[in-house]
Amino acid sequence: MINFLPELYENELFYSVIARYRTKCGMVSGRALIEDLFGRYIVITSSNFPLYIKDFIRNLPPSSKIAEKEIIEKHTTFRFYTSFLSGEKTKLIYQTMEDGRNGSKLNIEQRLGFGGSKVRQLSYLRYCPVCYQEDLETLGESYWRTNHQIIGVFYCSKHHVLLKESSVLSTGTGIDFICADERVCNAELLEDKYPCTIKSLNLKYTHNAEVLLNGNFPRKELSYIIDYYIDRLRERRLASKNGSLYMKDLQERFMHFYPKQYLEMMQSSVDPDSPSNWLRLFVRHNNRNRSPLRHLLFLQFLGVEIDDLFENKKVIGKKSVQVQYNPTFDIQKRRKKWLQLIAENPNANRSQLKEKGKGLHTWIYRYDRDWYNKVTPKAALGKKKSAVIDWDKRDEECLRLAKEAVEIILHREGKPIRITPSSIRNTLGLGSWFHNKKLVRTQRYLKEVKEDIDEFRIRKIKWAIDEIIENNGVLTPYKVQLYAGFGGSNKVIRKLILIELDRM
Ligand SMILES: [Zn+2]
Repeated sequence: MINFLPELYENELFYSVIARYRTKCGMVSGRALIEDLFGRYIVITSSNFPLYIKDFIRNLPPSSKIAEKEIIEKHTTFRFYTSFLSGEKTKLIYQTMEDGRNGSKLNIEQRLGFGGSKVRQLSYLRYCPVCYQEDLETLGESYWRTNHQIIGVFYCSKHHVLLKESSVLSTGTGIDFICADERVCNAELLEDKYPCTIKSLNLKYTHNAEVLLNGNFPRKELSYIIDYYIDRLRERRLASKNGSLYMKDLQERFMHFYPKQYLEMMQSSVDPDSPSNWLRLFVRHNNRNRSPLRHLLFLQFLGVEIDDLFENKKVIGKKSVQVQYNPTFDIQKRRKKWLQLIAENPNANRSQLKEKGKGLHTWIYRYDRDWYNKVTPKAALGKKKSAVIDWDKRDEECLRLAKEAVEIILHREGKPIRITPSSIRNTLGLGSWFHNKKLVRTQRYLKEVKEDIDEFRIRKIKWAIDEIIENNGVLTPYKVQLYAGFGGSNKVIRKLILIELDRM
């Protein structure tokens, strides 16, 4: 039980009030401090997501009016980090912070969209030198603010100056409770070398992040959010009517909107040539955890305000695709029909046949042209001309199809499939002519896009990790290995899994 708790300042990090309490009662031992505050010793590894808040409240003097809800919602980064999670997941994180249950570092941070998405947390607490100076003048002391600890925020929203990184650890087992005082902070401004465009992009980002931090928006399901994005992309002509994304254009526009340097600062560089760059995966329906940082980057790119996403009621998203045909069956059926048409019109030339079998002709001509040329009678005049295949044109078409197939393979539900020339061809349901050397650009693309075996293994491992987390399973290397379908004894795979788990 503690006798008093300093009053919490606006936006003050829960961590910060503990540090001030410690200084005020002159407590040196970190362990004694924890036991004092929580009634027993617990390991604290994060200043942004403190756990065991219930135990803390229980140890406050009876006169204290502060409640768990207030601490979690107003004095941690909880609201920001859970903004784009479903109601259920948000509740789970809230409960974890409340009572510490299932509170391993891995569990909570994975769910919050670190790890898999490769957006890392900040390692040190940050502060604004102007806020610091003002605090000293008005309050006689300064404190750590929640809004300055948000990932991707580089400027103080109030003073528009660069935030400074202190030497105080904000995550990990080495956390100690240290006040924002002259030992670790100073009022000297950092020289701002960033171009104006970057500054204004980041101030907008900061504004949005603070809207999330201070607001209490209804939580939405991920599928709703993705559909919402698809709708906005459709309005910008970056998705088709039925919701297929024009990924190349989208990437181009996105990279035009954000300077390369900015994307690097935001840990969100886009490699347009990589079939699995984050942007491609981001706007797809898959269960991957996405960092709120990337949601904000994307919303800013779309030019929509935060409330619009949360208050919008209806989404369309991707319209369900027509029943998929069975290519092998279909090709035989079509060939038979085409032969029948020829037999029924013995004197017809190609253009007459085309006229008679409109849809059928289009399909066969596009996807089965070698066969078409072999069986279809040529016109009496100019027959050479019509027999020549326009390889260039077909190359272009095949290249487009191949790119689509890669997207389909990467984003299919269930266990990942390796990207290879034959998996691409199978996905499209095309004949072996697809590998014809004359399709120069297509063959080059197939070669380039082919997934390296280790790349593929890592993709499978990440998928398995996401799945296990999604199903609330316990994450162990062995389980990941089996889930990904590798068998339990492969040591090379085990090494890759350990690296991936370590990265989280
Ligand atoms: Zn400031």
